[in-house]
Amino acid sequence: MFSKIVIANRGEIALRILRACHTLGIKTVAVHSTVDRNQKHVGMADEAVCIGPPAALESYLDIPKIIAAAEVTDAEAIHPGYGFLAENADFAERVENSGFTFIGPRAETIRLMGDKVAAIEAMKAAGVPCVPGSDGPLGDDPQENLRIAREIGYPVIIKAAAGGGGRGMRVVHTEAALNNAINMTRTEAAAAFGDGTVYMEKFLENPRHIEIQVLSDKHGNAIHLGERDCSMQRRHQKVLEEAPAPGISEEQRQKIGAVCVEACKRIGYEGAGTFEFLYDNGEFYFIEMNTRIQVEHPVTEAITGIDLIKQQLLIAAGEPLTIRQEDIRFLGHAIECRLNAEDPDTFMPCPGTVDIFHAPGGPGVRVDSHLYDGYKIPPNYDSMIGKIIVHGEDRTTAIRRMRLALAETVCSGIKTNIPLQQRILHDRGFVAGGQNIHYLEKTLQKGGN
Ligand code: ADP
Repeated sequence: MFSKIVIANRGEIALRILRACHTLGIKTVAVHSTVDRNQKHVGMADEAVCIGPPAALESYLDIPKIIAAAEVTDAEAIHPGYGFLAENADFAERVENSGFTFIGPRAETIRLMGDKVAAIEAMKAAGVPCVPGSDGPLGDDPQENLRIAREIGYPVIIKAAAGGGGRGMRVVHTEAALNNAINMTRTEAAAAFGDGTVYMEKFLENPRHIEIQVLSDKHGNAIHLGERDCSMQRRHQKVLEEAPAPGISEEQRQKIGAVCVEACKRIGYEGAGTFEFLYDNGEFYFIEMNTRIQVEHPVTEAITGIDLIKQQLLIAAGEPLTIRQEDIRFLGHAIECRLNAEDPDTFMPCPGTVDIFHAPGGPGVRVDSHLYDGYKIPPNYDSMIGKIIVHGEDRTTAIRRMRLALAETVCSGIKTNIPLQQRILHDRGFVAGGQNIHYLEKTLQKGGN
């Protein structure tokens, strides 16, 4: 096992990684920007290195500075967390070429999954069900593109191969709008991602977002840890997640899980990963794979009792998986609410100083947050300030626990989305379960029920 690693991130996930390192006796190096020197994990880490000014491009995204921090502290590996450089294949490659271990999959796997056209091709070849589509990039012939769309059936969605974060997509409802939409998406993709490659998929009108968590080691062993339902979204951003997904049977879970496990073995996947699917009319359709730990990983940890970050560290160190598929039990129900420093009505980020932060507690309540009394939220980064995760023997218990946990939480001095989360937890449609990815936005437009 590693004796020391660099945590190349900030906020709640940096703290989460530090906690996992402690359980394995690994020393930690925090790298931080000037505005983050008072972060909780920086104080807790064995060593800290300031890597630059607040702007992420000059700190958390500055590859040479992060590698230099590993060199000066004699660390052996680098954990990227999520966001920032977590899915940057060049970073993974440079970490490895500098003699350190990248805690995540091989650079070539990240590169493959970062190109959505190539990823879909690889997944199809591995037997993963995908959305009916163009089977490759779209060419320049308008007639041929019209033919492809007709065959798929409208509405269709034009997507950038290099897209991410919900950007570089356009829905088309009619033939008349198709070629113009393709050209516009191409131009935008070239400007935003430096790659104008686009492809076409059937646009599923009311799907749910259901994703499968996997763990795969360097010795050809892979397991799945069931699914998460992340359909509560606003502008393609997840707001609340739960596991298991309401209405998914054990048979469906094992079937789609086995497909993902097989795909991991086929592509030689190493580490923790997530297969994201749209779920419509009882069928799963692969949209992309995330080659990193995800924000919502704690709901899976709650129902399986498996520490996913600890598993990432063990796999990166070359240990074979010791958990067998048949040993995994899914116990009860877990819900995660993301806490954001934002106006609950306008959703505008609201950075500022937190006067008092009081976290909820009690059985089945977990809080992953870097906040403390007097913490100053900088305006430079994501507005997420933490997560509350509850676990109960069933979904009703989890919902009730979350309502109380949110009510117990005090976060004064700033605006947060706690009122929005309370609204969701009391919404009849949410309580019924199994809503699609448009439900939250539609409910917000209607003023809720
Ligand atoms: P990104 O990498 O930008 O997150 P994804 O391919 O994961 O892109 O898609 C993001 C979101 O866009 C999905 O969660 C879904 O809401 C919507 N979406 C993508 N593809 C389709 C599709 N074929 N039909 C309907 N919605 C889609």
